[in-house]
Amino acid sequence: LVKDLEAITHLPCETLDHHRVPLWVNTGLMVDVTRSLERGAEGVGLYRTEVPFLLRDRFPTEEEQRKIYREQLQAFHPHPVTMRTLDVGGDKSLPYFPIEEDNPFLGWRGIRVTLDHPEIFLAQVRAMLKASEGLDNLRIMLPMVSSIAELEAAQVLIYRAFHELLEEDFTISLPPIGVMVEVPAAVYQAREMAARVDFLSVGSNDLTQYLLAVDRNNARVAGLYESRHPAVLRALIDVVQQAHSQGTTVSICGELAGDPGSAMLLVAMGFDVLSMNAANLPRVKAVLRSITLEQAEELLLQVRDLPDAESINHCVQEALKKSG
Ligand code: PEP
Ligand code: MG
Repeated sequence: LVKDLEAITHLPCETLDHHRVPLWVNTGLMVDVTRSLERGAEGVGLYRTEVPFLLRDRFPTEEEQRKIYREQLQAFHPHPVTMRTLDVGGDKSLPYFPIEEDNPFLGWRGIRVTLDHPEIFLAQVRAMLKASEGLDNLRIMLPMVSSIAELEAAQVLIYRAFHELLEEDFTISLPPIGVMVEVPAAVYQAREMAARVDFLSVGSNDLTQYLLAVDRNNARVAGLYESRHPAVLRALIDVVQQAHSQGTTVSICGELAGDPGSAMLLVAMGFDVLSMNAANLPRVKAVLRSITLEQAEELLLQVRDLPDAESINHCVQEALKKSG
């Protein structure tokens, strides 16, 4: 089996009837990049910038960040690299920037933190833009957005950083800007968000946690964290439709994309890109190459009105068995 997976590393990810599904990867460290390239990834759908921040005992300077980001962009060039702005708070806290709250997942996290600290956001965006000079494969993505006002405030800061750098004589272009759909409010405003950005990307880890009100890290309720819960699937279907109604591409970068059975459903829903941990990429590709788009669509039709995750999971397992 391992040999079979290796054999398809440099073949495109497409269904039997030639429907292309670009498979991208989620990265954080340089080792992820090497591993991803070896596995035939076509881009980075989520570079978690908080990872290099976690490895230090203070905020990295703009110049330190520029170097780290440059390495990522260069290693993947000419493939696109989607850099997410700092997503701390919730389960990710920096030792030198402690956030103590009773309810961290509903508290100060993601874009909320960086909009309250524009100096952190601007330094990071400036570092990303400087790093992209001459490469032009940068995309910027905003985490935990729950209103249009937050999105617009972040866009204003990005434009500001961009214009500052033009005045400082950097030769850069404005990168595509995207927003993560990972809180329920963003699902219901996906159309308005899609109209204002270049791409959407669903963060299904947080979206599942918030839709089901199940802490993604709490073992006691782990049994309730159903990644194929009917409510989750319905939200995903809606997001794709709303994004496409605005001509905006939509990807998914949560763990769901790296699960072969779920990947079939995501392809049928119309996701334009699946982004996953490099470790899962070969298996997802093998499964997608073994089915037709029509088979995936039939599976989605079969499960979309089922009442619970258990019956959905059963159908998906059966379809996986059939695909070999
Ligand atoms: C997500 O929430 O699905 C996601 C991709 O982001 P993270 O896991 O870093 O919160
Ligand atoms: Mg998230």
